[in-house]
Amino acid sequence: MNAEIIAVGSELLLGQIVNTNARFISQQLAGIGINVYFHTVVGDNPDRLKSALEIAENRSQVIIFTGGLGPTKDDLTKETIAKHLGKKLVMDDEALASIESFFNKTNRVMTENNRKQALVLDGSYILPNHHGMAPGMMLEAGSHIYMLLPGPPKEMEPMFSQFGIAALSEKINTGEKIVSRVLRYFGIGEAALETEIMDLIDQQSNPTIAPLAADGECTLRLTAKHKDYDTAIKMLDEVDLAINSRVGQYCYGYDNTSLISELMKQLTGSNLTIAAAESLTGGMFQQELTRLPGASSVLKGGVVCYTNEVKHQVLKVKQETIEKYGVVSRECAEELAVNVAQLVAADIGISFTGVAGPAELEEKPVGTVYMGISIKGRAPIVKKLIIGGTREAIRSRSVKWGCHHLIKQLQESQKA
Ligand code: ATP
Repeated sequence: MNAEIIAVGSELLLGQIVNTNARFISQQLAGIGINVYFHTVVGDNPDRLKSALEIAENRSQVIIFTGGLGPTKDDLTKETIAKHLGKKLVMDDEALASIESFFNKTNRVMTENNRKQALVLDGSYILPNHHGMAPGMMLEAGSHIYMLLPGPPKEMEPMFSQFGIAALSEKINTGEKIVSRVLRYFGIGEAALETEIMDLIDQQSNPTIAPLAADGECTLRLTAKHKDYDTAIKMLDEVDLAINSRVGQYCYGYDNTSLISELMKQLTGSNLTIAAAESLTGGMFQQELTRLPGASSVLKGGVVCYTNEVKHQVLKVKQETIEKYGVVSRECAEELAVNVAQLVAADIGISFTGVAGPAELEEKPVGTVYMGISIKGRAPIVKKLIIGGTREAIRSRSVKWGCHHLIKQLQESQKA
């Protein structure tokens, strides 16, 4: 079975936004073994949408639309599809009730065109929208499956992964269960990871192994198909074991986790508190940690010590250290980590100091980062990193490296 994704929206054509919806949907479809052969983008124009739809019908069995389900005049996706298929649009009572309750909860007045969002293609299967108003829908007509999803990624992504994928799996399935598992890696590049497991990738058929790299991390999505769910899980376990017996030291978790969440789990599980001294990262580590519920039980606080004065006056880095080694140095990172933990009486201190660019600093090239870790009762350690990429990438990857090294240190101290 093959699919085509049609993203509707003039702002996509004008270059005002990027078509992240197509990327997300393609990744998800790969996980259930549906091939995506075409991505199409079309503006908010019914004639051009109709012609994109006709082209798609000639080459794809599953046609997925995103966008144009809103209440305004230019939102024409379902109207155009209804007309093309000779279907009526009918009011979906559940969707209408959910829109009404959304307005009640937010104390806003519902307008007549908001009711339009509860109109669905007659005979379609409804995909509920738990993060917005317009419901999604799936319709089988002739030899095609049409799926309509809202444009905003924060609505579309949960709808598609929660309901859309399940609905499609059922349609393409011959009674087989499709089970996926995402293995997450950090500290190894995509090419190195693939090289290590090339023979396994070459042999793959069931389970399939799909590598993906983004934001300095790599993932492998394993997908197994079998009539029996437990057997499918066992098949995943076997491939997981074969892969991780080679590269398991880089695997930090499964499915929807992140490095910061894994760190949080480690800290909570060991009942440890943390403080951060952040120069290069300007508070990013603490921001990431405080995004997670329960952060208050592990994060004591920290200091954004961007200038030398703050490093010296607040965090008591010795003037001599700054003069002799500079602030982008092993010595400074160590003092920052030890002193910030002392300052707020935390079990662990972590520090980030480095050169985010664009210019070099203290004759150290852009991307030079020192990260200090001080764990109660243990000698502090400092890691030097050389990180490539933009200013933003250097800062965000420093945070990831910080989590990675700290997780490793905590795992080692647990073993000791
Ligand atoms: P709304 O009810 O918000 O109007 P809609 O289903 O009609 O939803 P659009 O109006 O087409 O969707 O898009 C709403 C917003 O969703 C866009 O302004 C854009 O921010 C985002 N969006 C739409 N399509 C895409 C896409 N393909 N990739 C990423 N973001 C998108």
